Amino acid sequence: MTPTAIIHLDMDAFYASVEQRDFPDLRGKPVIVGGHPRRGVVLAASYEVRPFGVRSAMPMAVAMRKAPAAIVVPPRMAAYEEASEAVFAILSTVTPLIEPLSLDEAFLDVTASRKLFGGPAKIAAELRARIAAEVGLPSSAGIASVKFVAKIASDVAKPNGQLEVAPGEARAFLASLPVTRLWGVGPKTEAVLAKLGLRTIGQIAAADPDWLNRHLSGDAICGNFRAGSIRARWCPIAKRRASAPRTPSMRTSPGPRHSCPTCTRRPCAWPGACAWLAERPPSYSSS
Ligand SMILES: [Mg+2]
Repeated sequence: MTPTAIIHLDMDAFYASVEQRDFPDLRGKPVIVGGHPRRGVVLAASYEVRPFGVRSAMPMAVAMRKAPAAIVVPPRMAAYEEASEAVFAILSTVTPLIEPLSLDEAFLDVTASRKLFGGPAKIAAELRARIAAEVGLPSSAGIASVKFVAKIASDVAKPNGQLEVAPGEARAFLASLPVTRLWGVGPKTEAVLAKLGLRTIGQIAAADPDWLNRHLSGDAICGNFRAGSIRARWCPIAKRRASAPRTPSMRTSPGPRHSCPTCTRRPCAWPGACAWLAERPPSYSSS
């Protein structure tokens, strides 16, 4: 059986890249797309401003302290939506199985596209080249047999890169990464895990699941990695665009949502809709 091939394609610093594309004066400069200088938040930060510690969702006041020389531009949502439409039009030329996560990222199941277009890494490279040529924007891609790993791989590959993790290499790839690479692990959960001596995904994988469940309460964690078989539940961001392509939706959950075979918590403690993933292909529903 052909292994499932998932591409996670993610635009780089999307809003900021659109601004740099449309206004050449901004190219190579530290650009923040954001709202009010004191009350707003950072919507996007160009790669030139990130070395100063500026990240999206950060309060503008904090961002301006970190990078006082940054150029702040107000958002132009219509331009971002137009760019997004163009990107999704390109993505839809290689597979109908697309799961948009937001305006600027999506999962693509290209398992059945190989006969037509070649291997998933080749498909990803061609998609990124077309997006660069036709939309004028940089993007990154992660390729794996499950969405969860593809998502982390694109993050590692950024900016303007791609990374393929072969099915048998997923565990080794994840093992050395910090726990913060896991979806849903922010500073709070990181601190809880650090107290338990868990700093890498591999250390979580090696920990006894019962011990983990005893020590991680509340919203702390619902990931359940095992040494023998990487298993984690993850909660895809439920932000779907109304206008985004509505193909048969991809689900990693073999059963009803919020029902995690290895989870003692119901509903799942991660925020958002829950699916559980393991080293298994996604299933499809026509909803
Ligand atoms: Mg992005």
